[in-house]
Amino acid sequence: MGVQQNFIGGAWTEGANTRDNVNPSDLADTVGTYAHADAAGVASAVDAAKAAAHGWNRSTPQQRYDVLEFVGNEIMARREELGRLLSREEGKTLPEGIGEATRAAQVFKFFAGEALRIQGEKVASVRPGVDVEITREPVGVVGIITPWNFPIAIPAWKIAPALAYGNCVVFKPADLVPGCAWALAEILSRAGLPEGVFNLVMGRGSVVGEAILNAEAIGAVSFTGSVATGKHVAATCVSRLAKVQLEMGGKNPFVVLDDADLDVAVGCAVNGAFFSTGQRCTASSRLIVTEGIHDRFVDAVVARMKTLKIDDALAEGTDIGPVVDETQLQQDLDYLTVGQKEGANLVFGGERLNRGKEGFYLQPALFTETDNSMRINQEEIFGPVASVIRVKNYEEARAVANDTAFGLSSGIATTSLKYASDFKRNAEAGMVMVNLPTAGVDYHVPFGGRKGSSYGPREQGRYAAEFYTTVKTAYTLP
Ligand code: NAD
Repeated sequence: MGVQQNFIGGAWTEGANTRDNVNPSDLADTVGTYAHADAAGVASAVDAAKAAAHGWNRSTPQQRYDVLEFVGNEIMARREELGRLLSREEGKTLPEGIGEATRAAQVFKFFAGEALRIQGEKVASVRPGVDVEITREPVGVVGIITPWNFPIAIPAWKIAPALAYGNCVVFKPADLVPGCAWALAEILSRAGLPEGVFNLVMGRGSVVGEAILNAEAIGAVSFTGSVATGKHVAATCVSRLAKVQLEMGGKNPFVVLDDADLDVAVGCAVNGAFFSTGQRCTASSRLIVTEGIHDRFVDAVVARMKTLKIDDALAEGTDIGPVVDETQLQQDLDYLTVGQKEGANLVFGGERLNRGKEGFYLQPALFTETDNSMRINQEEIFGPVASVIRVKNYEEARAVANDTAFGLSSGIATTSLKYASDFKRNAEAGMVMVNLPTAGVDYHVPFGGRKGSSYGPREQGRYAAEFYTTVKTAYTLP
């Protein structure tokens, strides 16, 4: 296989250099070699998008529907192949990879329908004889910057609404996972879009990402990634008055009350904390447990953890794949040391594992006897590491759950209607889960958080229109 190129102005285009995409389950396996754009490549993509914007802005809902439906259908038909590619480059298990590819297809199909449902309003004027119309128009050219942990779903839930609402796109995937991004771009290249409407520019954040942030013709930037990068993205966009949307980290609490169904609580906690190798912004990293169920809960979680198979993402029966790369693995190991130095009890896991080949395998880890003020409970680790925080009662659990700089997802296991209702109302998070893991959401409803987790309008569902359109109010005196 040769170098997989960028897609700019409707043509496959060489980059300034290349980068190998390596399988984290087996470092001897190279997934492919991908072009890296430089600032000039981004400028060409932005020019192409700008030139295409006027035409695509006026495309019919049927044209947009046809494009998005084509992409959704093709991803759905190829979900096993794309899921395998995803697992091979990112390290989540094959069922998780296929599930994510399926989700991407569903997102495209959902927004195909949304393209047909773009609505405005006609309202009575306060002035006699005047008509007032409120319409939604595309923003123009949108920059899309995505992280490595959902290599196809996050690009899908940004690109699909951008196109559905009539915008042109300059898309930069994370450096670690160009494979799914390239495959998605290849499908989009055959979907019937006019040239320049969709552009793929792979490469480094400091080069390609920066060029997108600073491109005057890009009127809006949708970013998902870390808080540190997000703050820089926001500052740069705001300084030139571009619209910006950020989805960032989490330190998501999962509360377990004495009255919880133990099996439900343990299932949610293990799934939320460790599946997808804990590398989800919605991962349950703080397990806040009332004292009456604490010991039974910890014993049952550890027993479940002992049954998890940590292995090659593509191997049959693997529950937890490898960490994505050496840097992330080192971060996880560093936090395991930090937690122990802070006085937490590492009750299970945390060792680097050997699976007979070079890969980034880590035994999921559980801390007990932790305090919410510890760094391991305040900073996003982004690996298969969770902490148990013992609390006296529901009121303390709720206070601890909300005592964080983040606010993405918040969960509770309880059979009490009273506590479930109170938690739904008072959790300081964008998403609340009752008897469900903090991770795992629907694709037709808003996704996003509060506080340090998000900034700007929500993603997904009908709420995506807030970011990808701009409202016009027209007055007519006939
Ligand atoms: P990151 O911030 O390192 O990178 C995100 C993207 O930004 C990448 O494409 C990167 O190349 C790019 N980038 C880096 N520097 C840039 C710059 N100076 N200018 C423009 N772009 C730049 O994040 P990551 O390590 O890829 O992803 C992990 C993070 O993403 C975690 O914090 C996780 O919680 C978060 N995340 C959040 C959500 C959510 O929806 N809230 C979803 C998934 C991941």
